[in-house]
Amino acid sequence: MPDGYGLGRSAGWSERLHATGADALYLHVPFCAKKCAYCDFASWATPRGDGLSQPYAQALAEQVEQVASLGFLGRCETAYIGGGTPTFLGKGLGGLVRRVTADAPGLCELTCEANPDSLTDGVLADIASAGATRISMGVQSLCDAELVELSRIHDAEQARNRVRAAVLSGLDVSCDLMCAIPRQMPASWRTTLEEAASLGVGHVSIYPLQIEGGTTLARRVGDEQPIWNSPDVQASRMKQAQVELEDYGFHRYEVASYARSADKECLHNQVYWTGRPYLGLGSGAASMLTAEGYLRLLEACPQLGPLPDGMTRVRLKVLSGRDEISNNRGLASLSFEEEFLTERQAVAEDLMLGARLARGLDAGLVSYARSILAPSLDERLERLVGEGRLDDSLAPTEKGWLLGNELYGGLWDLAGDTETLVRRSP
Ligand code: SF4
Repeated sequence: MPDGYGLGRSAGWSERLHATGADALYLHVPFCAKKCAYCDFASWATPRGDGLSQPYAQALAEQVEQVASLGFLGRCETAYIGGGTPTFLGKGLGGLVRRVTADAPGLCELTCEANPDSLTDGVLADIASAGATRISMGVQSLCDAELVELSRIHDAEQARNRVRAAVLSGLDVSCDLMCAIPRQMPASWRTTLEEAASLGVGHVSIYPLQIEGGTTLARRVGDEQPIWNSPDVQASRMKQAQVELEDYGFHRYEVASYARSADKECLHNQVYWTGRPYLGLGSGAASMLTAEGYLRLLEACPQLGPLPDGMTRVRLKVLSGRDEISNNRGLASLSFEEEFLTERQAVAEDLMLGARLARGLDAGLVSYARSILAPSLDERLERLVGEGRLDDSLAPTEKGWLLGNELYGGLWDLAGDTETLVRRSP
């Protein structure tokens, strides 16, 4: 990791809570060629050649320039262009990557999310030459019948072909896979895991399918949680993934994340889990800023309004739609949902997020949290260890992860008042 960039993983917790910039940048591209049956992300099925996506990419690039001119990106280490389907932008994605690499000179990692249907050889070569270092492929399954149930736009062979092309390009490649889905059986899940591992990817993320209200899938299954998605099936598929992937040399470094070696772990996601500030641009994108970072953003976004007294952390979500952003009136025209956290809440949140990591709660965080949350912190940690949710080194156990809500909720409760202040601007 180069000196002088970002807070770095060794930064103290006090430093993290008072940084003035962002360690990570997220850009959201809310366009997809087709909506998947289970998807409730900010993404819309968009016809090819629509008039919106290229102006949107251009407007996003200009917002990146704006935040760079505020000094937000001088210490930025990682960037992630996600969606939606960033590869839907075609050549426009390369332009966005170029803008980010020009404005965030200290980047160690730049990931583009990709869908097998739109990751062409041309897009791959273009983003690699523009400075992307990593591709995260939405594969979900390598069984055709399961892909049909999910209404994915690609089949298994197209996914294999595009993952192979991405690996051959020399970029780091990650694969998203989904478990507890319709038609999935232990044998078909094993096939998906083994094939994905054999394709040469360095990283795999595993998610149990969540049936979200309002989606096509939720309407299809009705009110009862189907057996193929029951908590027991989710737990057994997650366990199976661990066993299979470890056989292929992967290690689990986060509840849902596996890497073939330490240098293949996703640096960007680790910013999210370790209390380091990040900035998100684009429709639906989320940011986590310190109070100091928020005051800096106010210079370009006066619509955000004053920082309420006693707040340490601000979570922002861009509420502006893709049409508004495409009109390109800059940061000052965006509307946001803002959520303000006190120092107690911010520290409790960091403990909760830290419990996602296999290495467990950072000693520096625990020591800082003790100065804010004593004596309830030690009592709570002892209880979680006694219940077998954390081990003696404060790393999550299998039981802790399997019944994650108890573990994460037990740490978040340390905030005392778990109700946060939320407002909308303008
Ligand atoms: S490709 Fe991803 S973002 Fe797009 S509809 Fe499918 S799940 Fe949602």
